[in-house]
Amino acid sequence: MTMTMPQTLQPLIQFEAVSKRFGSFIAVDDVSLDIERGEFFSLLGPSGCGKTTLLRMLAGLETPSEGRILIDGVDMTHVPPNRRPVNMVFQSYAVFPHLTVAQNVAYGLKIDRVPRDEREARVEEALKLVKLDEFGHRKPDQLSGGQRQRVALARALVKRPKVLLLDEPLSALDAKLRDAMRAELAQIQHDVGVTFVMVTHDQDEALAMASRCALMNRGRLQQVAAPADLYEYPANRFVADFIGTINMVEGRLSIDEPDHAAVTARQVPAPIYLDHGVTGAPDTPVWVGIRPEKITMTPIAQGRPEGPAALPQANVVAGTIVRSAYLGSQTLYDVETGGGPNGGGMVFKVARANGVRSLSPSLATGLPVGEQVFLSWAP
Ligand code: ATP
Repeated sequence: MTMTMPQTLQPLIQFEAVSKRFGSFIAVDDVSLDIERGEFFSLLGPSGCGKTTLLRMLAGLETPSEGRILIDGVDMTHVPPNRRPVNMVFQSYAVFPHLTVAQNVAYGLKIDRVPRDEREARVEEALKLVKLDEFGHRKPDQLSGGQRQRVALARALVKRPKVLLLDEPLSALDAKLRDAMRAELAQIQHDVGVTFVMVTHDQDEALAMASRCALMNRGRLQQVAAPADLYEYPANRFVADFIGTINMVEGRLSIDEPDHAAVTARQVPAPIYLDHGVTGAPDTPVWVGIRPEKITMTPIAQGRPEGPAALPQANVVAGTIVRSAYLGSQTLYDVETGGGPNGGGMVFKVARANGVRSLSPSLATGLPVGEQVFLSWAP
């Protein structure tokens, strides 16, 4: 017996064990995923990971080889694109050059035989939403790239889809405009409340705009989480590496208690102490990831920082700054450290925020290349 859930409790979009093969190649591999109403959801991953194929299956432009796709509880797996409550904004936001902005936006409603009065009201509303209400009479070639992008958005939104699909929506814009459009797109999504599903390979874009992201690799889902959770609690090594920068230390568990653990690594002379347990027997191989901005760097001359109370020699290593890059708000350092008893050694990436400095530029100093430093981090 199948139960019908009340509509509002049901996720808006459900991928159920969806796979897609092209010949013998598996582009999407057994993906199960729920997307809730009103989310700004992002499909993220490196080139070829299958994110566009997943989006195209949601749009109805590809058919799954296996599994089902439900929208609002209705099986859409074999429903053609034009009969799905879904609209897509493509990367190359094609607009008709011979039609005005308003005519472009009205086009889809005309095809659907929406009466003129309603059509005009809805076009006006959509143009206002994307801040193009003054531009309705212009032709697309009289618009900037960012404005043309907004026409494409208005054209999709005017049809009031339950879901708006965006395929790398900002990739054709230059860097400055892309930044501005990020904020605008997030604001528009917030204002209309329509569920957005966006494909991007740009992690900054996904983290900045999305309420949740699905990170994919080789056709498989790696993790589905809010941006901050992807960064702070990566589910596996791929996620940790893909999102942001991270220092990866390979080691083995030496202590594993419910509330703390220690790891011995060949590349780092000190043990690494963690104030929470890791599931694994002693000697289990593990990766420890330490983000550059969570490392404290102090000149050796200032003395050795204290390690964790439970294991004072842990989490402190000595090294030498071998490179630095001043980036305005922060400076990135490469610090070469010595290895453990069996050799090794590694280069740590360390980020230091640049706070208030002296008014005299000659006194504004970071730490110089060649400086001997201690690196330390919290358990
Ligand atoms: P990109 O960011 O480069 O667009 P993607 O993550 O969106 O990559 P997809 O476009 O989903 O990746 O493609 C996933 C894999 O499936 C790729 O290896 C691609 O070559 C392959 N693929 C996609 N469409 C087809 C097709 N129609 N026929 C054969 N192979 C395909």
